[in-house]
Amino acid sequence: MLIPTVKEAPADAEITSHKLMIRAGLMRKLASGTYTYLPLGWRCLLKVISIIREEMNRAGAQEILMPSVQPIELWQQTGRDVDYGPTMAHFEDRHGRQNVLAPTAEEVVTSVAAGEIKSYKQLPINLYQISFKFRDEFRPRFGVLRSREFIMKDAYSFHADEKCLDKEYWNMYETYKRIFRRCGLEYVIVEAESGEMGGSGSHQFTVPCESGEDIIVYTENSGGSYAANIEKAAVDALPKQKTEDRRQKTEEVHTPNVGSIEAVCDFLKTRPAEMIKTLIFQEGAKVVVALVRGDHELNPEKFTQVLGGKHNELATPEVIERVTGAKVGFAGPIGLAGKVDKMIIDYGVAAMAIGVTGANKTDYHVKNVVPGRDFPLEGDNIIVADIRNAVEGDTYKGVKLQFKHGIEVGQVFNLGTKYSAKLGCNFLDQNGQEQPCLMGTYGIGVNRIIASAIETGYDENGIIFPISVSPFEVIIVSVNQDDAEVVKTAEGIYKGLKDKGVDVLLDDRDERAGVKFKDADLIGIPVRVTVGKKALVQGNIEIKLRNEPKAQAIPAGNAVEKVIEMVNGLKAKLNA
Ligand code: ATP
Ligand code: MG
Repeated sequence: MLIPTVKEAPADAEITSHKLMIRAGLMRKLASGTYTYLPLGWRCLLKVISIIREEMNRAGAQEILMPSVQPIELWQQTGRDVDYGPTMAHFEDRHGRQNVLAPTAEEVVTSVAAGEIKSYKQLPINLYQISFKFRDEFRPRFGVLRSREFIMKDAYSFHADEKCLDKEYWNMYETYKRIFRRCGLEYVIVEAESGEMGGSGSHQFTVPCESGEDIIVYTENSGGSYAANIEKAAVDALPKQKTEDRRQKTEEVHTPNVGSIEAVCDFLKTRPAEMIKTLIFQEGAKVVVALVRGDHELNPEKFTQVLGGKHNELATPEVIERVTGAKVGFAGPIGLAGKVDKMIIDYGVAAMAIGVTGANKTDYHVKNVVPGRDFPLEGDNIIVADIRNAVEGDTYKGVKLQFKHGIEVGQVFNLGTKYSAKLGCNFLDQNGQEQPCLMGTYGIGVNRIIASAIETGYDENGIIFPISVSPFEVIIVSVNQDDAEVVKTAEGIYKGLKDKGVDVLLDDRDERAGVKFKDADLIGIPVRVTVGKKALVQGNIEIKLRNEPKAQAIPAGNAVEKVIEMVNGLKAKLNA
């Protein structure tokens, strides 16, 4: 069997799962963000896939398979050719037609459903596939956690009414819980931004661990807890700051060539928390301004929500200069509201007593700016709202927010009619009226499940796989290949286990015992059976669990029975 274990991890491997997947011979890199799965790695993926398939079928979904190469016209109909930007790979075929490589499949599945669904009698329906997706990620990294080509389970449901969609949403939510539990993952479920308005919104299934790129924000309190991802996490409005300084007059200061927050702070001996950042966006011909405190970050999702779901791009330097009358880096809120279509002010800025901001004049800033006095906090085109990321020290409903990193392994969404309306996926209701289908979408990152299992299950010797996703359930190490009795016993147990349907690997290589034990630990197979000359003399073999330090001696004759008992015990824990 091809199991090319190696001592050294490649230099580009920054996190444990990436290092161990290479070292244990699960996969090899082809190019940035693309990997070949070798026999052990592919076995892991197949196990995850079969758990997902079983649970999706059990939940009533039906498996289909859609093409990876899709015509661009479909994506133009929903506008997502633009939204996905360079993350979606494009190519022209020999006839000059434009195609994309599927990063997901809402457009295709909705067009399929549009062709087949005529009446409410055909609803609800849930279609899913398990297939390759391609995303030309800006920065592929962390091995298979952020790769360019990966396997996704994507499901799409169609409904005649909101109640039915809601029911399926929670059906998928429960199904995901089963899937991740069976895969042996310790996950948390957090509220996520749905982008679209809809009954159930969106939830993300996240595996907490240091190397995760997502940030989970949560509270732990007796009255119930709250958990959301950073894109969604709400914060309480900050209390209004009190200070005597509010009587000071505004003062323009010359700040030649100092544009960034840090540079201005250095120059004026102030802190980012005392600065007001003025960010200028455009949505078509409209100009929208966002104000956030210098030490806060604008949250694009919250900002988009406040603007009624309209996506805004950062304004071009030309637009910024036209609106502010100054070069980029010197925008400020004084006198700006009248010149723009909308001004969205974060609660944090509204609560400031006094601050520093750009002067709308190249190379100048203004000190002693008092929100409400020097620029308005109310008006027809002014909204004060929560548009920033939560930070350490924030509260929600009065309880302190906590933060931790995690890996997003799956997400469920209520889509409403976003896609069906645009792609003409309609049905005739009971009154013969044509209506767009309501839709839900549900994704799982198959490769990320393996990486998450490793990130949360390893020690200094290698991987510790949950039995359900391990490439094999049992490994038999035959210690003395030159001893006929040892070979015979090892092969006998191997055959006995195989006959009983146990997924077992026999290490009968001509290698030293130490090498075999090292490899077995590295690969992370949960149950190890050791057949050696010494123990056999007493009629025993050894059984050891990967995550327990001690082995136990068992009469060789009972080995098969005992191993099956252990395997079933490990499986039962995951199915509980
Ligand atoms: P992310 O925010 O991490 O980029 P996403 O929210 O864009 O992910 P979805 O469109 O929700 O991802 O895709 C469904 C699932 O596919 C995700 O929950 C994740 O597990 C997986 N996935 C997404 N992008 C990648 C990637 N580049 N590499 C591996 N798995 C991915
Ligand atoms: Mg997602």
